[in-house]
Amino acid sequence: DIPVITIDGPTASGKGTLAAQAAAALGWHQLDSGLLYRATALAALRQGVAAEDADGLAAVARGLKLRFDGERVLLRHAATPPGQDGEDVADALRQEQVGSLASRISAHGAVRAALNQLQLDFRRLPGLVADGRDMGTVIFPDAGLKVFLTASPAMRAERRYQQLIGKGISASLDALRADLEARDERDRNRAVAPLKPAADAVLLDNSTLGIEESVQQVLSWWAG
Ligand code: C5P
Repeated sequence: DIPVITIDGPTASGKGTLAAQAAAALGWHQLDSGLLYRATALAALRQGVAAEDADGLAAVARGLKLRFDGERVLLRHAATPPGQDGEDVADALRQEQVGSLASRISAHGAVRAALNQLQLDFRRLPGLVADGRDMGTVIFPDAGLKVFLTASPAMRAERRYQQLIGKGISASLDALRADLEARDERDRNRAVAPLKPAADAVLLDNSTLGIEESVQQVLSWWAG
């Protein structure tokens, strides 16, 4: 069996950084499942598919032509000439507007189902660290280690704020916090794959832990 570690948790809890560093330490593959929802949202925006059109969005998700190449995320679309690389959408996917639309469209069961197999395909030797909202509850229920990451809303808003400022993007701390709380609320209360810890998940509150300590904690749980 190919080993999997899942890391789920709310927006801006530090899942992505933790998953990337744990995967690097183990020499494993990484799945940032939020990116698939973001790519679906971006493609839907470009194709003019509405946030309420579950079937249209599921078709967009099924038709996604994504390729990961280091830091680049290449998206092919109708205008991409055959044989050429898709457009690098790594930066576009990080935009708040895209994240917010991703949160809305991810509530549709049809969209989630359309992205199922794509996520399972990331499970390759020697192992996978997968982060998202439902990695431990829905996608990889047999994962050997399931981590549920938490951090206070104030701390998460502050981190997101620093990330944006660091990239030279201006932001309002209050607006960011309101947006992430709205997203969490939607993720927790949706009917399909709501955000919650798996019954067998271990909780990790990283409000007070540095990234290095969080990585060490995950690795020591895994070494168990
Ligand atoms: O984690 P990230 O902010 O990139 O995810 C964007 C949105 O996609 C989240 O707000 C969440 O609603 C949704 N998502 C999800 N299930 C996942 C990963 C992300 O519903 N496994």
